[in-house]
Amino acid sequence: MVGVFLCLEDEMTTEKETVQTRTKDYRTATKLVRGGTKRSQFNETSEAIFMNSGFVYDSAEQAAGRFKGENEGFIYSRYANPTLSMFEERMILLEEGAVAARATASGMAAVNGALMSQLKAGDHVVAPKALFGSCLYIIETILPRFGVNVTLIDGTDLDQWRAALKKETACVFLETPSNPALEIMDIAAISDLAHKVGAKVIVDNVFATPILQHPITLGADIVVYSATKHIDGQGRCLGGIVLGSEEFVEDTLAPYLKHTGPALSPFNAWNLLKGLETLELRVHKQCDNAEKIAAFLDGHPAISRVIFPGSDSHPQHALAAQQMARGGTLVTFEIAGDQEAAFSALNRLSLIDISNNLGDAKSLITHPTTTTHSSVDDAIKRELGITESMVRMSVGLEDVDDLIEDLGYALSGQSD
Ligand SMILES: *Cc1c(COP(=O)(O)O)cnc(C)c1O
Repeated sequence: MVGVFLCLEDEMTTEKETVQTRTKDYRTATKLVRGGTKRSQFNETSEAIFMNSGFVYDSAEQAAGRFKGENEGFIYSRYANPTLSMFEERMILLEEGAVAARATASGMAAVNGALMSQLKAGDHVVAPKALFGSCLYIIETILPRFGVNVTLIDGTDLDQWRAALKKETACVFLETPSNPALEIMDIAAISDLAHKVGAKVIVDNVFATPILQHPITLGADIVVYSATKHIDGQGRCLGGIVLGSEEFVEDTLAPYLKHTGPALSPFNAWNLLKGLETLELRVHKQCDNAEKIAAFLDGHPAISRVIFPGSDSHPQHALAAQQMARGGTLVTFEIAGDQEAAFSALNRLSLIDISNNLGDAKSLITHPTTTTHSSVDDAIKRELGITESMVRMSVGLEDVDDLIEDLGYALSGQSD
């Protein structure tokens, strides 16, 4: 979307182009604060919210030319919008290896767009069973209705990938770390295998965040985010984004989104731009807190198991260390006992909120088997290691000592 700003204010074109190209060389924190910024003729400091649906043309000829693609500029906010373009540009600068992007109204609109825009009847998709519930619904329930064949596997087992991939495989879709058991999939090895049969690799990078993991540099083709999570990270709005090659985004994804309409609100795009400004700070602080919480829970008598990719005890710790900069902001653990023990611990928390969202400044905790994964078959839950006493904590920005005290009290079993 670089060119679309040319029509904002002609005399500012050169400066704007400079801002865009120059930020490519800056370090992450700088790109997050400044990348993609386009000032209007009023020279506002913060990015402007272009809260409009349509755009006007100087002449009938210009309108005709715009529709033919002969002059650059905005047509309609379902196709593109200046505030969304700023968000897309900033994300492209952040997501190493991506050269184009489209924002969407939610993470699920991004996942759906990344898949549906390129699949057709007769195609085959391979994905791990360990997927975010709605991603699993699209892959397992919606795609087959349109004649797309699907194979679900244990994504941590490369032999299962080898066995499942075939010449009809058009896409591979995976999340790593997965939800809620924080399993790690080997992006580089899976991408190699998928590319041998000509399949495109889509990585849902929500749990790792764009700060900790760069799937395209590891071999993936397309990255999707629920921007609702760490990118906003303050519980304000939904949003999503798909990033990839110019060819995929402009020729395949963009027409699908433009005509099906899961457009992000400019106001939400602005929230997400503001979120990006502090993303690196927040993610690192949340990782610091998560590391301390994992260490606190490890060996606690009321805890039977801690799953944290940053801990030596994680079964795929070495792989996590190889493809992620840090262990992440989520800690999953099992409370000694059954569902009742888990519920009673959650109900004794006074600071950490019970909520199924994640990536937020506020620490949130959920009991996956009765909430996010309540519609998943018991047999699949067992395979995925989702147990009755398992809880998933999204670690926030509070003082970690307050979080540890809250957990400590909840796990102490003392009566109130
Ligand atoms: C939340 C989430 C989604 C869906 O995003 P929404 O913004 O809620 O639509 C998809 N994948 C993962 C891994 C998520 O955590």
